[in-house]
Amino acid sequence: MSNKHLLIVLSGPSGVGKGTIVKKLLKRGGYAVSVSCTTRAPRAGEIDGKSYFFITKEQFEEKIARGGFLEYSNHFENYYGTPRDFVESQLEKSDVILEIEVDGALQVKRVMPDALLIMVLPPDAEELKARLLKRGTEDRETIEKRISRMQYEISKKDEYDRTVINDDLLKTVAQIEKIIANKKGDIK
Ligand code: 5GP
Repeated sequence: MSNKHLLIVLSGPSGVGKGTIVKKLLKRGGYAVSVSCTTRAPRAGEIDGKSYFFITKEQFEEKIARGGFLEYSNHFENYYGTPRDFVESQLEKSDVILEIEVDGALQVKRVMPDALLIMVLPPDAEELKARLLKRGTEDRETIEKRISRMQYEISKKDEYDRTVINDDLLKTVAQIEKIIANKKGDIK
């Protein structure tokens, strides 16, 4: 990276608490989070421009053609991608956090080798699986897709710079901040 700011990529299976970790990091200050584009429909309570930029498949593909994404992937039958402009301009000012899945994260690592890839894992994958099954807000097929995706994500953990187990939120956030501080020390 050409400046001292760091691109931090957080991944991990859904339900592991990445969203809460990002909120805590943002509260500490010094970080900006990238808002992704997606073609999936907004869920209740999600705000366009804040949760995601909700765009059509045509708009997404047009942005791909313009080179507008730092990375993108197609999973759960929808496109998800990180807008390149925001990340590149924000890195001039502060560290930037991306909360994205593994395929996108590994694309980022290829184009920005100094990016710090952190995988957040549950203390007990079986327990997370049981929780997803019990949640009852999605049909069986969707849940099974989420579980097989979770197993896929976990299988890529060795390609990440660091893995943290989220067994205690505050401890996990402190651990991630330490990892970030060490990395910043390395690239200065
Ligand atoms: P959800 O539909 O539950 O909001 O997100 C599903 C998955 O998409 C999560 O693992 C989330 O981290 C990932 N995701 C969100 N934004 C992006 C993005 O910009 N790029 C990629 N590759 N994955 C994303």
